[in-house]
Amino acid sequence: MELFKTTESDVRVYSRAFPMVFNRAKNAHLWNEDGREYLDFLAGAGSLNYGHNNEVLKKALIDYIESDGISQGLDLWTTAKHDFMRAYKTHILEPRGLDYKMQFTGPTGTNCVEAALKLARKVKGRDGIISFTNGFHGVSLGAVAATGNSGHRGGAGVPLGSVEFMPYCGYYGKDVDTIRMMDKLLSDSSSGTDLPAAVIVEAVQGEGGLNAASADWLKGLSRLCKKHDILLIVDDIQAGNGRSGDFFSFEIADIVPDIVTVSKSLSGYGLPMAMVLLKPELDVWNPGEHNGTFRGNNMAFVTARTAIETYWKNDTFIKETRAKGEILGKRLKAICDQYGPGQFRLKGRCMMRGIACRSGELAGKITSLAFEKGLIIETAGPDDEVVKCLMPLTISEADLNKGLDLLAESVSEVMKEELSKAS
Ligand SMILES: *Cc1c(COP(=O)(O)O)cnc(C)c1O
Repeated sequence: MELFKTTESDVRVYSRAFPMVFNRAKNAHLWNEDGREYLDFLAGAGSLNYGHNNEVLKKALIDYIESDGISQGLDLWTTAKHDFMRAYKTHILEPRGLDYKMQFTGPTGTNCVEAALKLARKVKGRDGIISFTNGFHGVSLGAVAATGNSGHRGGAGVPLGSVEFMPYCGYYGKDVDTIRMMDKLLSDSSSGTDLPAAVIVEAVQGEGGLNAASADWLKGLSRLCKKHDILLIVDDIQAGNGRSGDFFSFEIADIVPDIVTVSKSLSGYGLPMAMVLLKPELDVWNPGEHNGTFRGNNMAFVTARTAIETYWKNDTFIKETRAKGEILGKRLKAICDQYGPGQFRLKGRCMMRGIACRSGELAGKITSLAFEKGLIIETAGPDDEVVKCLMPLTISEADLNKGLDLLAESVSEVMKEELSKAS
């Protein structure tokens, strides 16, 4: 580990919480160099919904490589890309009545957010964007301007402009309707709020602390955007690919965003890939206007297509995911209930859930102890106060329960210590 500590930039982050060298992984398990096994409730920050080294995806990838399939990343037309696009259109978009064109961007989430914001600005001829409190959309300059977290914003080194932040669903408590607030601001020609090109929103805020917007709020937001001629961008990078209980996180609200950004678990194998879904009439790009060398990761196309054809041709997988989401919710709620109000709070939706602790310090103690016990689990939220469960959706029920046992034990031991300190 010495080489890492002396030679890798201080910007590294996950290796600080889990300071050990990993060399093997399978579904919800990781092993370190000493052969110690860990349960993985981080799952590549939500980029491994189908688990580590998924057998079906692995086989498709190996076959593709063995047959000298194309591996370069330019946006040339390839068979792999064609087959991915057809599978996505046939099994994802069409059954949901969605008509989107697909834009392939550089392979990171932040890059497809950049593209979405640029496109919205170009279409509407306005520079403003509305983002939400605790929103996270990436760390390149355009995306970080729409990200709330001051630590990320501080790294920019230049003024971040053209984005206004509005209160997310429930930001002022459940009695304040933040859509009405926004409507009033946008309707008043003297409010000081300029008409933006677009609103960008996560239906469940991942990094911001697992805040789940209600279906009504999302519907209201969609209506508000239509009323004021604003484009609606849903950032589905983390909540997508089944994590929220539907393929897309906005499906519960029965809305159709103008633009959707997808990445993380899209390739299904942890391979970098990102895409913007845009309504056909919004496709005003000039060729190469948003460019990049790696806008066609063919190996990712192969695993992404295979994931769709394996898990999304019928509703078996999403039903299993929802059932696991129920177990996760129940068990986390049991932890919260055990300590009474004011201690822990259940957050999130389906397989994107966690518990908010009184402080980031407490959450950190819990996740550190869990790691000692063999569970990899991270925190999220403005003060890192939310213990966040993001296990693969393919995790077995036994492993899900085993990981939750380790989490419950960690909470219990940390709380015992806290309470004894207090008395
Ligand atoms: C992770 C994430 C991003 C940024 O993706 P990167 O691949 O890290 O650039 C953007 N939006 C959301 C909602 C995310 O969870």
